Amino acid sequence: MFALNILLISSGAAVLLYSIVKYYTSLAEIKKQTKSEKLFSNWVYFACFIMMIFFLAGYVLNIAGYFFHPDNVSVRDLLISFIFFFGAVFVYAMIKVMRRMFDANSDRTELKRRLAQQVLMSDIARSFTVIEDLEKFIPEALKKCGKFMNSDHAFLSKYVKEENVLQGIYEWRNEKAVSFMGQEGRWPLTGDMEYFDELLNKSYSTISDFTLVEDPNFEKAKSLGVHSFLNMPINIEGQFWGILGFTIYGRTYVWDESNINLGRLLAGIFSGAIGRSIAEQELVKAKKMAEQGSMAKSEFLSRMSHEIRTPMNAIIGMTNIGKNAADMERKSYCFKQIESASKHLLGIINDILDISKIEANKLELFYADFSLEKMLSKVVNVVSSQMEEKKQRFSLSIDGDVPEDINSDEHRLMQVLTNLVGNAVKFTPEGGEISVFVRNLSEENGAAALQFEVKDTGIGIPQQQQDKLFASFEQADGSISRKYGGTGLGLAISKRIVEMMGGEIRIESVPGKGASFIFSIRAGMASRGALGESETASAAAIAGCFKNKKILVAEDIAINREIVAALLESTGIAIDFAENGRSAYDMFAAKPEIYDMVFMDVHMPELDGYETTKMIRALDHPRAKAVPIIAMTADVFREDIEKSIAAGMNDHVGKPLNICDISKKLTKYLS
Ligand code: ADP
Repeated sequence: MFALNILLISSGAAVLLYSIVKYYTSLAEIKKQTKSEKLFSNWVYFACFIMMIFFLAGYVLNIAGYFFHPDNVSVRDLLISFIFFFGAVFVYAMIKVMRRMFDANSDRTELKRRLAQQVLMSDIARSFTVIEDLEKFIPEALKKCGKFMNSDHAFLSKYVKEENVLQGIYEWRNEKAVSFMGQEGRWPLTGDMEYFDELLNKSYSTISDFTLVEDPNFEKAKSLGVHSFLNMPINIEGQFWGILGFTIYGRTYVWDESNINLGRLLAGIFSGAIGRSIAEQELVKAKKMAEQGSMAKSEFLSRMSHEIRTPMNAIIGMTNIGKNAADMERKSYCFKQIESASKHLLGIINDILDISKIEANKLELFYADFSLEKMLSKVVNVVSSQMEEKKQRFSLSIDGDVPEDINSDEHRLMQVLTNLVGNAVKFTPEGGEISVFVRNLSEENGAAALQFEVKDTGIGIPQQQQDKLFASFEQADGSISRKYGGTGLGLAISKRIVEMMGGEIRIESVPGKGASFIFSIRAGMASRGALGESETASAAAIAGCFKNKKILVAEDIAINREIVAALLESTGIAIDFAENGRSAYDMFAAKPEIYDMVFMDVHMPELDGYETTKMIRALDHPRAKAVPIIAMTADVFREDIEKSIAAGMNDHVGKPLNICDISKKLTKYLS
């Protein structure tokens, strides 16, 4: 009897203990249930709990009975033990049934969750295809997913490579979370980037408990109270763009697979949406730029038409007045006006040529030694009459350590300075002041860094317009150009020239007080004795010099022939004119020995200058090979010059012709 009783009691106790263990493990399952399920489970479990207490108490009493009366085990005791044993089995059975129910339930919950996840995904994917505005779409999607995942915070941060910083740009958060935007959202990354390598390789990364992680990159997250996170990389066109993250505050959290998959899917959708938005933004930007460019160009064209028509008007008008004028004084006044308008027109044409060279990347510098002071005085000469007219004061200051002679492109440097000083004169009212400073910034290895400053007391330029002035076709504003005229090309050309000379140009200006244009160049030192060669050629210098020489000029346009004849009249040189390539060839072939030199226009009817030259060079006469042939054309690009040389010509003079260029060539080839 005693042994049977002990057996019953111990098996009952074992079943009860096992039930208690099951009871505890099931409590976690209850937490996942819906509200009504929880109510039911809680009641059943409460009943089990009471029964357990009851049976436990029964056992304690029974065992206590044995303790006091070990020899006196009655049938009643046995019965009680029986009841307790079956009670324990009943509790166990109840818990078992409940577990079954829970398992079935949890499958159902998982199914429901998956379904909800799919609905969420399709919802987000759909809104991504229809919503235009990312500003609305991303925070909304972050909110839905953040809530779905039971996280406290969902964010999207962009990786700023130059600063090695993750910058928060979108977020959703509940009241527990700290904002990741603004200053808080700047996450400077430090140390090696092992974490990010892992993130990129796996395409996600989770940390369940930050407090266990030693990584300087997470120190800030820890300090804000983040406990756990799930991060996914956002890649755009194969490049790491940023991070999509979900964080949990104040509790450890193990991210399960379904959360991770949802996060990865979402990262994929975001990558697509952001990529699309970037592409669209670039498209809009490109369109805007194209529109701006075309606006600037059409504005430029209308300005240019005005700029060209103004001197043309003067030339045509003055020519008519001069033609009909009876007295010489009036005629010479008209010529003076025509001369000045023509020079102005030529300046515009040269600027257009220069800017097209710059746009085609074909502007070149030709270095030679020259005197800086002489060059500066030429610049002043060009604008002195305008300065006098406006009663402006002018000062030039050259620091003592600036080299007297330098090696650079004199013509281009003069062009920059003439433009800047010309602008200063134009934009400074009567009685204003214009100063030019030249400084030596440094000197090393036979080169000097020179700084030029052109300062005026004129109208000045507002800050927001200063940068765009150096772009082609741009002027400060329409009203200024209407008042003062100008093509808006000068500064763009100047900037390019200065950059090609190894320097830079900038503006300092206070509107209403004046402007300073400051530029630097790197210039070589002039080699001794090299100066002066090119200075000697001028009309006066060659007057009467070529009395016993004869040249052939091939030129189809009568007025150009007339100009050449007039320009060379003083030299005493004999000239034969040919009206096209064919007759030039015939004339030369008939008497090759009589010509000392040939000026060859390039574009001519019947036979062009290149063909004519080739045919002359092919003649079987020693003079045909030796005679200097100089191209005389308005094609002044480098490749035009190269083409003439390739055709067998020796040199090149550009149109419009000027006596200086022609004198140089005559001196070079006939002296
Ligand atoms: P242009 O003078 O032929 O129009 P530029 O490129 O030389 O072309 O100058 C562009 C614009 O820069 C001018 O139209 C003017 O608005 C502004 N600018 C240039 N120099 C000055 C200056 N010294 N003072 C005030 N504005 C200036």
